Amino acid sequence: MFVDSHCHLDRLKQGPQALAETLDFARTRGVEHFLCVCVSVKDYDSMLDTVAQFDDVSVSCGVHPLHQDDACTYEELLEKAQRDEVVAIGETGLDYFYSPESKEVQLTSFIDHIKVANETRKPLIIHTRDAREDTINLLRTHKAPHTVGVLHCFTESLEMAQAAIDMGFYISISGIVTFNSADELREVVKAVPLERLLIETDSPWLAPVPHRGKQNQPGYVVEVAEFIAELKGVSVAELARITTENFYTLFSRAKMQAA
Ligand SMILES: [Zn+2]
Ligand SMILES: [Zn+2]
Repeated sequence: MFVDSHCHLDRLKQGPQALAETLDFARTRGVEHFLCVCVSVKDYDSMLDTVAQFDDVSVSCGVHPLHQDDACTYEELLEKAQRDEVVAIGETGLDYFYSPESKEVQLTSFIDHIKVANETRKPLIIHTRDAREDTINLLRTHKAPHTVGVLHCFTESLEMAQAAIDMGFYISISGIVTFNSADELREVVKAVPLERLLIETDSPWLAPVPHRGKQNQPGYVVEVAEFIAELKGVSVAELARITTENFYTLFSRAKMQAA
């Protein structure tokens, strides 16, 4: 059974009615759990409303680095993030590729999220693009020894992956790994131990081959898994088993909710 460790179910174009069908499609393909990732604390309550009826969906809370127009205070973030249903903090992080001009607010927001993760003892979901040094340095400086997390939709260097793994982090791979242009990422995936890998769709964005151009959906995490299994030289069943186990180890509250 597969887990989609990172999707944005409140951002699918079809709306709530089609969401039930979208999740059913994923379930028929063997996807047993979905982590719906928050990008704006202001939208947290409506996101929760959208997915609350589904027992196999868990949620995170945070402000995406590219959504700083929706920035919130440390107290607002903590108030929502400490709620029982929240299994992780994020997505947070740094993106200097799309928004170098908002660097300062991104840094402040990222530090707030790390502190909230320390305080709530919940794992971090980190988005990082063209900000390798700052991402690793801020984690080293601000995170408590017990705080762990994931670098999601990873597209950076093996060196960065290794630095994160050394801090107890996981590396999550999206459908980008199937793209023609992703040779470097494929080398990273080959080198990262299976015990440190998660899989995700990041839907509705980044549909994997052969679905490029369509809206992405959680069911397509199977294509991501198949591709990585081939790269790693293991069966799809084995890849699914290990990445699912990794998911519940990192997001232990999702496991408690599923039980
Ligand atoms: Zn992201
Ligand atoms: Zn995301």
